[in-house]
Amino acid sequence: MKKLLAISVSALLILVIVLVIKTLTYPFAKLSDNQPEPTKVAISEKSISRFAKGVQFATISYIDSAENNFAVYDSFRLYVRNAFPNVFKQLHDTLINKHQWLLHWKGKNTSLKPILFMSHYDVVAPGSSDPKDWKYGPFSGAIAEGRVQGRGTIDMKSVAFALLESADTLLASGFIPERDIYIALDPDEEVGGIRGAEKLAIYLKEKGLFFETIYDEGGIVAAPGTAEGINQNIAFVGMGEKGVVGYRIKVKGLGGHSSMPPLESAAGRAAVIMQRLEKNQLPQRLIEPTENFLKVAGAGMGFMGKMAIANQWLLKSLLLKQMEKNPQANALTRTTTAITMLKGSDGNNVLAPEVDVVINFYFREKLQKMCWRISKKLAKDTK
Ligand SMILES: [Zn+2]
Repeated sequence: MKKLLAISVSALLILVIVLVIKTLTYPFAKLSDNQPEPTKVAISEKSISRFAKGVQFATISYIDSAENNFAVYDSFRLYVRNAFPNVFKQLHDTLINKHQWLLHWKGKNTSLKPILFMSHYDVVAPGSSDPKDWKYGPFSGAIAEGRVQGRGTIDMKSVAFALLESADTLLASGFIPERDIYIALDPDEEVGGIRGAEKLAIYLKEKGLFFETIYDEGGIVAAPGTAEGINQNIAFVGMGEKGVVGYRIKVKGLGGHSSMPPLESAAGRAAVIMQRLEKNQLPQRLIEPTENFLKVAGAGMGFMGKMAIANQWLLKSLLLKQMEKNPQANALTRTTTAITMLKGSDGNNVLAPEVDVVINFYFREKLQKMCWRISKKLAKDTK
């Protein structure tokens, strides 16, 4: 018995030593101890108020564009034009397919390939329209708590205005870019870009325009602690984008008056399907860019985080479990499942003869492979 205990203790000790050595020798990125403080750019009152007013336009894009209020898009662009008179005096702007905006800034050297900066001025629907649900209205553009509040402040009128402010400032200083610069402001990025980016691509191809670089929506630049477990300033460079596919599930059942309901309603069955979808998440996997991200981000983590990354031969499932707890990290590891829209009966005492559920999958695997998995899962669910 004593011998067995001794063996177990030494085995455990060896394991701990191996874990520690592996952690200490893992090729984490080297971070210098005295990182320079990021340069803080003074933002003028004028810039802040120009941006805050821009947030007030409810340029919401819907999958079914019939729901869009395009008059708001028009008035948003008119507002921007008036807010940046110098930019629009000196840059040439074009509207493609009515709402896709393209600004062209002529450079000195026409033999150089131009650069394209992209942003979008549409936003996703705010969900609740009940003012009680909001501290600051989604289109208030309130300046409070040291921030501009509202839809599009992060995603991504912020970038559109940053581009316009930069151009405005540079123009005022007499700057002429080396090469041509294009700024594209998209009207429907949130719903796939069929009316905007796609038409822009066709337009640019027809003009024979090819770019040296394209800068588009990417990750975030964040203070220490913003990304869980990372105690350093961090800038995420987006290298790819997941695809998204939406499925609508119709669950049929018995309609009628709710005073004589069946034991199993369409709504109840839909609930079971939704619960199973959430419980049976698609498998997690670390792909190469995520592995590389962990190598860099891990350098800013505490010892336990480092140990999990460095010892995936033993702790991979623990690492994935930990990542799963955080929605951002989770999204890096798998095709995500999100139940988004739900429709049952409209009446308090009416049974829904049909319940509609919409699920969004943000995927990175081959679509075909994924569809197969989902259809298998759904077949199981509806049995
Ligand atoms: Zn966006």
